[in-house]
Amino acid sequence: MKKLLILGAGTGGTIMANKMRKELPREEWSITVVDKVKNHFYQPGFLFIPFGYYKKEDVIKPKQNFFPVGVESVFQSIDRIDIENNKVFLANSEVLGYDILIIATGTKINPEETPGLKGELWYKNVFDFYTIEGAEALAGFFKTWDGGNLVVNIVDNPIKCPVAPLEFSFYADAFFSERGMRDKVKISYVTPLSGAFTSQGHLNCWEVSLRTRILK
Ligand SMILES: Cc1cc2nc3c(=O)[nH]c(=O)nc-3n(C[C@H](O)[C@H](O)[C@H](O)COP(=O)(O)OP(=O)(O)OC[C@H]3O[C@@H](n4cnc5c(N)ncnc54)[C@H](O)[C@@H]3O)c2cc1C
Repeated sequence: MKKLLILGAGTGGTIMANKMRKELPREEWSITVVDKVKNHFYQPGFLFIPFGYYKKEDVIKPKQNFFPVGVESVFQSIDRIDIENNKVFLANSEVLGYDILIIATGTKINPEETPGLKGELWYKNVFDFYTIEGAEALAGFFKTWDGGNLVVNIVDNPIKCPVAPLEFSFYADAFFSERGMRDKVKISYVTPLSGAFTSQGHLNCWEVSLRTRILK
């Protein structure tokens, strides 16, 4: 039996598990996915949490729900890959072999790489909305905030879903308007790109179609 091993069962890994289970004959190929967490976090939904449109429970579902029959799952942290010997070492010392390996372990934010960002004001009045923790902390802050300067800052590129900060700014505009305090909030959008909506920053998401519609 040949082995397809998929590292990471987020969006990419789950899509590949579903597609490849249809493609590969079951009597010839086993498929295993490995992830360190059992729950799937629907990351595009993080955008709505700060404004109270979504809650944490709206963006979390068991990963197992999305794996087709005939795909095995291992919930364990991946430690390292031994490419020479087709082996993956897990944190619990388990070793998985493979014939084909797909790496889909995604990306994570690194706020500590920006000097000062993760100082004492982190999650007090400096937030991210790219993690569930950051999105929830910001929701708590907005509940009692009585206005001031709201700076939406893209520190650097590349980032996943490059249009999300722009969407965030539009939601903030709507949110504070609905609350009758838009005049008390100054929204600034700060980007290292040459414009708010550039092809350089936005060509890797569904936003391509949105952009096409806007330009038409
Ligand atoms: C706020 C926000 C809004 C977004 N909006 C959109 C949108 O509107 N449209 C769109 O197309 N995309 C959007 N995205 C981007 C989209 O969510 C990502 O592009 C997508 O999730 C990437 O899929 P992935 O499989 O590469 O990574 P992920 O979905 O992040 O999955 C990676 C998986 O690997 C696992 N993993 C990582 N390291 C290890 C390890 N060492 N051991 C075991 N497991 C590990 C993780 O637990 C995770 O489950 C948005 C993202 C954010 C944050």
